Amino acid sequence: MRYMFTMMNLARLAVGVEANGVSERAYQHSVAYAKERLQGADPEQGHGPVSIINHPDVKRMLMVQKSRIEALRSVGLLLGTSIDKSIKHPDPEVREFNQVMTEIMTPIVKASMTDFGLENVSLALQVHGGMGFIEETGAAQYYRDQRITPIYEGTSGIQALDLVTRKTLRDRGRGVRMVIHHIRDDIGTVNDPKLEGLIDAMKDAIGVAESSIEHILNLGMQSPNKPAAVCDAYLKLWGLVFCGWHMLKAADISLTRVEGSDRFYANKIVTAQFFFDHDMPKVQLYWNIIQNGADALVEMDSGIFEMAS
Ligand SMILES: Cc1cc2nc3c(=O)[nH]c(=O)nc-3n(C[C@H](O)[C@H](O)[C@H](O)COP(=O)(O)OP(=O)(O)OC[C@H]3O[C@@H](n4cnc5c(N)ncnc54)[C@H](O)[C@@H]3O)c2cc1C
Repeated sequence: MRYMFTMMNLARLAVGVEANGVSERAYQHSVAYAKERLQGADPEQGHGPVSIINHPDVKRMLMVQKSRIEALRSVGLLLGTSIDKSIKHPDPEVREFNQVMTEIMTPIVKASMTDFGLENVSLALQVHGGMGFIEETGAAQYYRDQRITPIYEGTSGIQALDLVTRKTLRDRGRGVRMVIHHIRDDIGTVNDPKLEGLIDAMKDAIGVAESSIEHILNLGMQSPNKPAAVCDAYLKLWGLVFCGWHMLKAADISLTRVEGSDRFYANKIVTAQFFFDHDMPKVQLYWNIIQNGADALVEMDSGIFEMAS
């Protein structure tokens, strides 16, 4: 039985990594196109046409892809090392902790990498405008390749149910609370004043995740359908917590290494800030859904779908 779960966990991580790889290729494709496509006036100088990569909304579409790919690559590596340590580490306590991390992270990483991945390739296609629909650009092929990843090795809906039922309700939140404490301790080591805004946002996100665990447990006592009704929002909230944690850590390490003309670490800090400005605010959105979204769905008569909308 243990080997079956080891195989499933590895397969789910592998599909997540596949999705992030497709995202990376689509992202590189869209950057190349945005540099060469001339359209519209320069937003500040007024002259044109200019490469669309200069338009703020095109930069946004590229940065959404870049920031999510970097965040999830880092989170995926953590899951990979957790799997290894859960099997091979000589210290049984370390093995046990990493087994908990593996079980909780697997559905989060699989669904986040593939759901964000699908949004990423859609944005990569969008950067191409109408040319995204023309086969010669190759943009649509990435979308088709990516579309399967949130389905096989367990749909995102099944990953979210797994997180709510087997990984939260079954041990009454013990494992997920352990992960929260670990993340809180780890970000406690980040104290550069330049990162104050990100640190505060991350602490808020952790507080929200902690509250969401209690709320899910409470819903579970009312009816098994209630936590299932908000499992998608619960998983997405956790995905953001993991990504935010790793972006904050990346920014912290980068601050100690930015020097000269090396842009790598400077870019990491800008990318982390972007992720906190554009994706992390959704933590509050998902928390609202977790608190308010269950009752109407559970009480809803499925006859509602028999009438045309
Ligand atoms: C190209 C391709 C390759 C594949 N390769 C393999 C392979 O090599 N080996 C293998 O074993 N399988 C393979 N599969 C199967 C794949 O793993 C399944 O298609 C996938 O797990 C989804 O299961 P399903 O198709 O039965 O969907 P269903 O279970 O019918 O799901 C349909 C929808 O209902 C939702 N749903 C289902 N049950 C519940 C529930 N209890 N609560 C809430 N929502 C629910 C799902 O999230 C989904 O949105 C492959 C599939 C494809 C398309």
